[in-house]
Amino acid sequence: MCRHLAYVGAPIRMGELLTDPPFSLVRQSWAPRRQQHGVVNADGFGVGWYPSPDPAGPVEPARHRGAGPVWADETFGELARVITTPALLAAVRSATPGMVGGQSAAAAAPFRRGRWLFSHNGALPGWPDGASRLGWGLDAGVLATLDAPTDSALLWAITVGLLARGKTAAAALTEVIARVEEAGGGRATLLLTDGQAITATAWGTSLCWRRLPGGVVVASEPYDDDPGWVDVPDGSLLIADAAGTAVEPVPAGARPTFTDRSGVDA
Ligand code: GLN
Repeated sequence: MCRHLAYVGAPIRMGELLTDPPFSLVRQSWAPRRQQHGVVNADGFGVGWYPSPDPAGPVEPARHRGAGPVWADETFGELARVITTPALLAAVRSATPGMVGGQSAAAAAPFRRGRWLFSHNGALPGWPDGASRLGWGLDAGVLATLDAPTDSALLWAITVGLLARGKTAAAALTEVIARVEEAGGGRATLLLTDGQAITATAWGTSLCWRRLPGGVVVASEPYDDDPGWVDVPDGSLLIADAAGTAVEPVPAGARPTFTDRSGVDA
């Protein structure tokens, strides 16, 4: 199981979210408090962050990722110390058994396309046998350009396809969950941001959120003992931005878009 965290709102120094708190994401890489699967998160790490608002429009976020444990990466701490950003998504990874291990930075979240950043905490059982059930409708070109041979990369490819079809972030994640369930189920706690809002699902693993001055943070587990942390009930869809947070059950029975399994949109 991985641990991940997203923030949007007033510009904040990355270290305030990722390295400075007593139970920060870096500490969660070796001593998570709420993790139920796996022990340490040493099979890769990543952070993606957005530049300060640009009058020319949204700018693609930058990323720094690595294949090993975040605690061994000097650059992560240096970036966290000096960079101020209005939005970020960071993760530390514990590779699911049977998937590429800690030798591939490409398997580490956040995954990125355009202005979007994404991460997945969970696992789809029976990998890779279930992959074909989950990936139906994706063409070979998409599969050939997967970031990594992992369930997370496949879920991201599906999400990208739905966003490209004009789905909202909430509709896309709802449909991804519907497809996961249709393919046999699994744990799929997802974080998705465009730097303006965070859309997330709590699906089989822990998730919580907390309001900060001018912003909101959504994370696998609290990074400190502030009473402002709110647990997200399992089975929820969360949408949060600097103005507010909405949590509701993931709409049941969302119908997958790719109804024609030959890969043609129906
Ligand atoms: N199954 C994913 C992977 O192996 C995510 C793992 C996790 O949440 N720990 O990368």
